[in-house]
Amino acid sequence: MSTREAISRREFIRWAVAAPAALSVADEFLPRLAYAIQDAVKEYPIIWLQASTCSGCSVSVINTIHPSIKNVILEQVLPGHQLVLSYHGTLMAATGSLSVETARSTAQKFKKKYVLVVEGAIPTAQSGGYGVIGEENGHPVTMLQWVDSLGKEAMAVLTVGTCAAYGGLPASAPNPSGCKGVSEVFADLGIKTPVINIPGCPCHPDWFIGTVAKILLYGMPQPKELDEYGRLKLFFGRSVHNRCINRDYLDEGIFATTFGEEGCLLELGCKGPFTNADCPIRLWNGSVSWCINAGAPCIGCTEKGFPDAHSPIYQRR
Ligand code: SF4
Ligand code: SF4
Repeated sequence: MSTREAISRREFIRWAVAAPAALSVADEFLPRLAYAIQDAVKEYPIIWLQASTCSGCSVSVINTIHPSIKNVILEQVLPGHQLVLSYHGTLMAATGSLSVETARSTAQKFKKKYVLVVEGAIPTAQSGGYGVIGEENGHPVTMLQWVDSLGKEAMAVLTVGTCAAYGGLPASAPNPSGCKGVSEVFADLGIKTPVINIPGCPCHPDWFIGTVAKILLYGMPQPKELDEYGRLKLFFGRSVHNRCINRDYLDEGIFATTFGEEGCLLELGCKGPFTNADCPIRLWNGSVSWCINAGAPCIGCTEKGFPDAHSPIYQRR
């Protein structure tokens, strides 16, 4: 085994050991789980397509603590390898036609065996002309065409972030691009590939890594494991409000009326009661804090309709 392989293997096992934390798996199961994931990813490369996005979800996932993203991505985005992440337009070293050719060749080689990750909404107006990635035979290829061609040949699609899941910010008024989430685009195109939504603005790294680990180990989720918006109940089964640190204030009728004041943030527009996510127990930025702990109302970033349906953000609904 070469040094590179040995390092990648060790790093990957660390990644695999971290994933069960998101899945709440018992410690004694960890070694088996680590090797099972390692074997599985050899067969299921990931193509990460960035559509209409700010790249914030990529940044969020890159900030995963276990492992450092270095071994997961930078040392493994190399053409010709059966890798965890075969294509990521921003992170991979290759650029231009060489870069998009990697996506195409991976899709051809691993038909129905790769996972397509979509980050960002899909522009659909003007036949998708508001967003293009690369060219084919001298013609620009729209994001819509990419999602069509890569989506129907994928084993599964993971939408990373609220934009890819439901349209999100690029779908908000007055954007004229007709941006939609992947499930809606698939419905329009008649594509039946299963889609799992991992919303959030951005998506939490644990939600992404935990979902990938779950699919690799246990297969696609059963319908009962998903909610009506295509999200894993494991992460999105309960409301933010349900486990909020400010519930005592709410019960006692103590409400903050200006930022920085003690109290429940409902009067400042908190959308926690209408938002499903496990932020209160998962925390963000390496388990340091989360929105409400920092004194900011939940703005409902994991919900379909965000942000327009939640506006004005800082007013009570
Ligand atoms: S701050 Fe928001 S989530 Fe927390 S108790 Fe108040 S309304 Fe619910
Ligand atoms: S608390 Fe609300 S706004 Fe903050 S990350 Fe969680 S779901 Fe999004």
